[in-house]
Amino acid sequence: MQRGVSLKLSGGILFVFSGPSGVGKGTVLDRLFEKYDGVEYSISMTTRPPRDHEENGEDYYFVEEDEFERIKAEEGFIEWAEVHGYLYGTPKKFVKEALEAGKDVILEIDIQGARQVRKIFPEAVFIFLEPPSFSALEKRLASRDSEDNEMRKLRLENARKEIEEASRYDYRVVNDDIDETAERLIGIFEKEKNRR
Ligand code: 5GP
Repeated sequence: MQRGVSLKLSGGILFVFSGPSGVGKGTVLDRLFEKYDGVEYSISMTTRPPRDHEENGEDYYFVEEDEFERIKAEEGFIEWAEVHGYLYGTPKKFVKEALEAGKDVILEIDIQGARQVRKIFPEAVFIFLEPPSFSALEKRLASRDSEDNEMRKLRLENARKEIEEASRYDYRVVNDDIDETAERLIGIFEKEKNRR
């Protein structure tokens, strides 16, 4: 965890969105943002190479490891973690400024990152996206052509660990239909906004 992170507690709501690899977090968020602009998406930084369809500054900020380490040393991340052999982190500046301006922000991060955020920002709202079943997840990962077998195996092992962590989240949403899942997320955002 980054020491010295201080996020103002007033202002916008921080939503943390996790779920195992292959559960469809990206697809659900794409659909969500087609319908809803009440929450800002925090673009993470990663040392993972971009996939074919991915754009720098849109899906992620793709950086070399030394650049990532430099930002980490400067305490420029709210949280960071190694996931599937690569480094991922949430740049602090964007989130801090958006929250302070009263905007709500969503982080799409893994369970290790969520644990760090829970410590420094316990009033964040934690949402976990679950697959309808583990075999559904296995099928989805197998149909992804972006990864080799070793990587797929690693992601599946991590998925088991991720699912075990679901009970620590405030909301658990089963992704059986993308539109319904997006609607359920909007429902959660609106409910939390009204509550505060
Ligand atoms: P992918 O490489 O498939 O885009 O993402 C792999 C995993 O890294 C996903 O579980 C995703 O949620 C997680 N991830 C993406 N950005 C961040 C981040 O900034 N911090 C952390 N801790 N995990 C991240």
